Amino acid sequence: MDKIELGSTGLEVSPLGMGVIQIGRRPWAESVEVVRGVMDLGINWFDTARAYGDTELRLGEALLGIRNEVIIMSKSHAHEPDLFRTHIDESLERLQTDYLDVLFFHGGGAIEEGCFLGPGGILEIAEDAVRAGKVRFLGFSAHRIELALKALDIPSVSVAMVPANFISREWIDGRFLPKAQAQGVAVLAMKPLGGGRITNAELCLKFLKTYPDLIPCIGIERVSEMAQNVRVWEEGALLTADDLAEMERIEELLGDRFCRGCGYCQPCPQGVPISTVAFASIFARQMTREKVLEMLVEPVEQARACIECGECVDKCPYDLAIPEMIKENIAFFEAFSQPL
Ligand code: SF4
Ligand code: SF4
Repeated sequence: MDKIELGSTGLEVSPLGMGVIQIGRRPWAESVEVVRGVMDLGINWFDTARAYGDTELRLGEALLGIRNEVIIMSKSHAHEPDLFRTHIDESLERLQTDYLDVLFFHGGGAIEEGCFLGPGGILEIAEDAVRAGKVRFLGFSAHRIELALKALDIPSVSVAMVPANFISREWIDGRFLPKAQAQGVAVLAMKPLGGGRITNAELCLKFLKTYPDLIPCIGIERVSEMAQNVRVWEEGALLTADDLAEMERIEELLGDRFCRGCGYCQPCPQGVPISTVAFASIFARQMTREKVLEMLVEPVEQARACIECGECVDKCPYDLAIPEMIKENIAFFEAFSQPL
């Protein structure tokens, strides 16, 4: 794939990147092969995080000896300066590298903490890491637009990673994208397929391609999935009237019930695994009956403990009617799980 510039960093990246979280589900050797196979397709950047299980270790092994051919991005979710510093060194060790190309403030939450700015704060530690050559550029990921707009005001931030798909249009059609563009901040589109909730990958990519400044980061676990994405991207087909109608149908289906899986509503005091339950009926359209039963029996049982306290609603950046969604999905699952 032809490379493009990553904002004003001077780094050259493939127009699609790979999010590695899903390879953590594969046997170790296969996950290493997936990374190398994806590179053969022309993908040259990989996104991981300190919080993504052992994926930094897998990525580090896959890239041994070819580190200088790729761009590695990782994240720290630490909200304490000492832990943030430790995360940087741990990520370098786990990835078997001397530097991260981009280090993200994972979820951006730390930016709102008192320990972010000022002497000894998280930002200073991150900027020191840049000066020391451990990190080349800083970035943030976020699920809340107000937080992201604030994060764009940090002068040392060069890269943003935010949700972008034809359901989460608020990020691209609102204030965020123009501000990022005006400041030369590269925007990576996370959850381009709605976190796996939109199954028509081709449609998602065709939509995102209409925004030339967005660079999708796609979580895959098989080389064939990325090969298909690369094919769609390179074909560059325009959205057709049928595509627009299909987008409308999917938007209607997910509509005001579209949980982005961001996790901001957690933890629930009653232990309800909210995003899993909120999407039970959608999962049922996407997976085999056996898989749905296996995956949802326990979460749905836990969801019965919901007391409709509304704590999660206050925390959800998308104002979803979570208690109602939970009730609807419990009812759905009860019907779904009846013997055939
Ligand atoms: S409304 Fe239900 S799911 Fe939400 S926080 Fe309260 S108990 Fe948990
Ligand atoms: S319910 Fe809202 S806060 Fe919770 S995971 Fe879904 S989108 Fe995020």
